[in-house]
Amino acid sequence: MDTHAVQGAAHQATGHYRRPGTRTLYCGRPTGPRNDPFRTVRGWKLCRPCVKAEARDRAEAAAVAADHTEEAAHARAIASADRYIARTAPAVARFLAEDRARRPAPAPAPTYIYGAQQLTIIGTPRPAQGALFAAH
Ligand SMILES: [Zn+2]
Repeated sequence: MDTHAVQGAAHQATGHYRRPGTRTLYCGRPTGPRNDPFRTVRGWKLCRPCVKAEARDRAEAAAVAADHTEEAAHARAIASADRYIARTAPAVARFLAEDRARRPAPAPAPTYIYGAQQLTIIGTPRPAQGALFAAH
């Protein structure tokens, strides 16, 4: 990941993380030039407040992303519809709850097998089959 020096810093030997979409570093100072090419230079170090703040920001972003998956949106939509039905038509809500309780649990999604793994299961094609394809 790119690191930057503080603007106007004399030695630029400390790497800071820039807040995305801003010209400010996570530690609140103005962004200077990139200095990650100097990572290997002796004495180069990372700014601790920047590392902590960047990790926190990243974790928050990951949580938001997890909340915006297709499955999460689907679950929210179902819950919303359930609340609406319970509010507007309690008898229908009771019927739906009983119906759900009667239904068996949904079957797990099928797993597909491809390539070499499949060949070990069904075996390699027999010579007769090869001849059939060769004729066309
Ligand atoms: Zn910093």
